[in-house]
Amino acid sequence: MENFTFHNPTKLVFGRGQLENLPNLIPDGVKRVLIVYGGGSIKRNGIFANVDKKLKDNDYEVFEFGGVEPNPRLSTVNKGADFCKENNIDFLLAVGGGSVIDATKTIASAAKYDGDAWDLVTKKVTPQDALPLGTVLTLAATGSEMNAGAVITNWETSEKYGWGSPFSYPKFSILDPVHTYSVPKDQTIYGIVDMMSHIFEQYFYRSTNAPVQDRMCEGVLKSVIETAPKLINNLDSYEYRETIMYAGTVALNGMLQMGTRGDWASHNIEHAVSAVYDIPHAGGLAIIFPNWMRHNVDVDPSRFKQLAVRVFGVDPSGKSDKQVALEGIDRLSEFWTALGAPSRLADYDIDESKIDTMVDRAMKNGPFGNFNNLHHDDVKQILTMSL
Ligand code: NAP
Ligand code: FE
Repeated sequence: MENFTFHNPTKLVFGRGQLENLPNLIPDGVKRVLIVYGGGSIKRNGIFANVDKKLKDNDYEVFEFGGVEPNPRLSTVNKGADFCKENNIDFLLAVGGGSVIDATKTIASAAKYDGDAWDLVTKKVTPQDALPLGTVLTLAATGSEMNAGAVITNWETSEKYGWGSPFSYPKFSILDPVHTYSVPKDQTIYGIVDMMSHIFEQYFYRSTNAPVQDRMCEGVLKSVIETAPKLINNLDSYEYRETIMYAGTVALNGMLQMGTRGDWASHNIEHAVSAVYDIPHAGGLAIIFPNWMRHNVDVDPSRFKQLAVRVFGVDPSGKSDKQVALEGIDRLSEFWTALGAPSRLADYDIDESKIDTMVDRAMKNGPFGNFNNLHHDDVKQILTMSL
């Protein structure tokens, strides 16, 4: 393991009816709360009305900022920051999925910065202050509810980057599985693919001796694999929604990556794809990740074999490590396809015409990936395999 310090300050408030506790969770002294949300799902399913009432009944002055897009855009973040400055907002409440939370994290820092939020996203400037924020999660997927990361797209330059700051941790996140009942089947599948991908990113590391981390990753993956098909056929099951919601948070709140670094190249490649084509994040991951695995299997076949045997139940007897590894990757692809996830870029009508643009976007900050450092030709090969 590598040396590490772990500190995650987000208070997680999980379970049925936990919205009741919202007023107790908002820090003392806060008067003006801005509810940040997306395209309106929370208005249709009643979550907005419940949140709004809870706040108003407790004498908060409530403002709203809607319209955050999936793959949240820089222009929206800048508008949100201006809104906070003009209205002296003192607390941000993100009500939505990862896009709304990521936008809110970035608005929180941009509201205390005199300039373009892109300076923060590109790490040109380190935030010195931020508005505090909390979240009411409505979609199990990203883990953004309990980490400091945020992913923002600059549509003018077709660039999508992740950034983070200690200020970006939510003060609290309320996770009621009932809030995810209205998530449609396709978004439920995307969420499952995203959380599994987060675990794979962390599973593929180069440091040695992290058997606890390995088993934790494998355990969460197995629970997701057992539950996902049942949930897809029963979207109103509290039990299945609960398991998947908790898994999504654990997958990316830092618990699984202590003492290791993970790889994160597949996320980087996906960000380049969705910066150019605006496809759903996890739709891109479902296509790219198995091909990243196939491309990198020779780097350390035993690692892929371990995943194949322990998580996908591949029988290793009489086979080489590589054969077992490849069988495991095929099982993963089959699992995602059976759930209903896409498997080729062609599923989004993406052909080879902009491959070089996507490769350039991915390579913008140089070679990347910790398990295997990917260069231009590697990325091009992975994208070509994904067509
Ligand atoms: P999302 O983009 O937040 O939401 C996807 C769709 O689901 C939206 O149309 C949204 O509608 C809808 N939705 C959300 N909750 C719903 C509900 N309860 N009922 C019905 N519809 C609902 O999806 P996401 O997968 O959570 O977030 C994806 C973004 O997060 C990407 O930009 C990705 O790059 C980023 N990401 C961040 C992290 C991180 O750690 N910060 C990690 C991985 C990915 P409305 O807009 O109407 O609400
Ligand atoms: Fe992700």
